[in-house]
Amino acid sequence: MRWGIFSDIHSNLEAFQAVLASFAQEHIDRYICLGDIVGYGANPRECIQEVKRFKPITVAGNHDWAACERFDVKYFNSYAQTAIAWTAQNITQEDKQYLGSLKLVSELGGFTIVHGSLHQPERFEYILDAYSVESTLDILNTQLCFIGHTHVPVTFIHRDGRCTACFRKKLALEADVKYVVNAGSVGQPRDGDPRATYVVYDSDNKEVEIKKVPYNIRKAKDKIIKAGLPKMLAERLGTGQ
Ligand code: ZN
Repeated sequence: MRWGIFSDIHSNLEAFQAVLASFAQEHIDRYICLGDIVGYGANPRECIQEVKRFKPITVAGNHDWAACERFDVKYFNSYAQTAIAWTAQNITQEDKQYLGSLKLVSELGGFTIVHGSLHQPERFEYILDAYSVESTLDILNTQLCFIGHTHVPVTFIHRDGRCTACFRKKLALEADVKYVVNAGSVGQPRDGDPRATYVVYDSDNKEVEIKKVPYNIRKAKDKIIKAGLPKMLAERLGTGQ
């Protein structure tokens, strides 16, 4: 089975369409969306529609739940708050119902998916390093966990009681080792590479690959500015920060 995994679209339709076009070449059997479909970008409705079209197994991100008032925006910085207020005004009641219906965690055969952290997932804690991943590893029932939220693709490898962060793009999974894979971000990468990020997981060959695809950044930036969203949200797309 080949899984197409993506996270943190953040209303960036151009980036999402580039990722979906790449997936079309990857012989994907099933899709996974790790949350934050909306927030920051200018096309929340279109991104929700595209997600629905591909019918991925989807978990909620903090921005998804904030847009339908299931998560308090007091935890957001001012740019994110402005973007969520704009998003809430520019999606329909049906869109809000959809975002509010998303679950926090899903355990599938052999792997688990969550937006932030398995530890109190409703708090959307950040897994940033080999230390903050521990509380997730403690309660992880499967060998593998896919996460998003930080917008930085990285894999935490737990072997013989020790955890290390690994930035290799291609991983061959070993038995008796646990992996927490951050799928990075489709629509707002923060790893210094502005291209859209996605993941292909081949569960038969036991391989995980983090991939990048270029997209029309200028168009996504122009839409953000035209929508009256904070300029900074457009600028950061160009640098991937
Ligand atoms: Zn996000």
